[in-house]
Formats: sequence, C-alpha cells, structure tokens
Amino acid sequence: MEKRELLYEGKAKRLFTTDEPEILISEFKDDLTAFNGEKKSSEAGKGALNNKISTELFKVLEAEGIPTHFIEMMDDNHMLHKRVDVILIEVIVRNIATGSLSRNLGIEDGKVLPFTLVEFDYKNDDLGDPKLNDQHALILELVEYQDELDKLRRMARQVNDILKPYFEAKGLNLVDFKLEFGKDKDGNIILVDEISPDNCRFWDAETGEKMDKDRFRQGLGGLTLAYEEVLNRILNK
Ligand code: 5GP
Repeated sequence: MEKRELLYEGKAKRLFTTDEPEILISEFKDDLTAFNGEKKSSEAGKGALNNKISTELFKVLEAEGIPTHFIEMMDDNHMLHKRVDVILIEVIVRNIATGSLSRNLGIEDGKVLPFTLVEFDYKNDDLGDPKLNDQHALILELVEYQDELDKLRRMARQVNDILKPYFEAKGLNLVDFKLEFGKDKDGNIILVDEISPDNCRFWDAETGEKMDKDRFRQGLGGLTLAYEEVLNRILNK
C-alpha cells in the first residue's frame, strides 16, 4: 500500500490516504512540541521509536481484546491503520499525580493516587485543550450519548489495567497517559492515534528517572536514549 494524498499534518504525525478508502497511513515525524506548540524541536529517530513502541503496544492491547485502528507497521516511520472519525476528546488516565494535576489542584508531585483517575480534555489547540465534564462533551456534541462517554472511560481503564502491570514487569511505572478514540465505519469506538513516550509518562521503578517527553518539556536532554530504553524494555532486550 502506498501514500496518496496528505490528508492532515499534525504536530507529531502526517496522515495520508491510500488506494483503500477505509485505510490510512500515519507518518511519525521527528518533531517535538510542548506547551501547546510554544516549545518546538526535533530529534532524529524519535518518530521511528514512537512508531515501533506504538506498534508493540497496539499488538499487546489487541491480544487482550481492545479494538484499535492498528493494521501493521510498514517501515520505520509509517503505520497502516483504519480510517475513523476521531472523537475530539483526549482521555487522560492517571495512576500517580504529576504534571497538570499537581499544578492545577496542588496534589503533591509523585503521590500515588488512591484510585485510577480518568479525565477528559477537549482536543482543541485554539482553546489549549481545556478540561471537560460529561455535560460539556454532550453540549459540544463531541459524542451523541452519555453511554459513549461511559464507554470511553471503561476502555481507558481497561487499557490501564493491561499496560500498568505490563510496564511494572519491565521496571517502569506507568504514571499517566493520554488516549484518543474514534468511530470506525460501523460506528464502533476503537482506540486510535499512538501510545508512546510522547503521550505517556514512564518513570523508572528503581531510580525514578523520567523516560518520556517530560525530558523535552523540562529540558532534561537524553530524549531519544530514554525512548530507546522504553522500546528495549518492551522488546525484553
Ligand atoms: P498533563 O495533563 O499532566 O499535562 O498530561 C497528562 C498525560 O497526558 C501525560 O502523559 C501527557 O503526555 C499526556 N497528554 C495530555 N495532553 C496531551 C497532548 O495534548 N498531547 C500529548 N502528546 N500528550 C498529552
């Protein structure tokens, strides 16, 4: 399958049509952005690492019964996947307080939460991805029914129930992550986008070292080394 038209260019990926109307290609870019695009950079090899990490994690989730858009990894920077109507809700799952949760509510950074927190952000760069409650999401018609919001929460918790112990076994704490969902041609809600250190926080279980995009957000350096280490642990290398 080959790339045809550029459908959309996002901050970390380009999306292309193919000869099959229901199949798209994502090209993973080396570009990095943070703080709603205010901080920008590029790291050679970052796109390929995210493509490989996402591929492995989509396979793990599919094997556990989570429907995803993943079809196959084509080459280092390209993934073949189903076409969906993206739901403009970022589903955030948190096991440990940090980032905006600690900033906004004053919860101590690093505090293990008494239960897994699931939040919704409005996927809207112009507005800076604000927090949403269920009523906001329904008023904005981001989904049609309350049932669909319940389903997003349920699926996000299932993903966490699979990935948290998966990473624990590899010496990584899954601190928090952002998921995106879409509706396929039959109206089924499936997991889309990517699952990588660009949208997950991983802390080394022994040292607490940050192994994710916070290395860029906080100017810590060593981003690709950290992403490589995440991939190597996934592959048990
Ligand atoms: P926070 O709300 O603390 O900034 O982020 C919580 C988690 O969701 C982090 O793992 C972060 O990487 C992810 N996340 C939240 N919003 C975005 C976003 O707009 N883009 C990406 N790539 N990740 C996000």
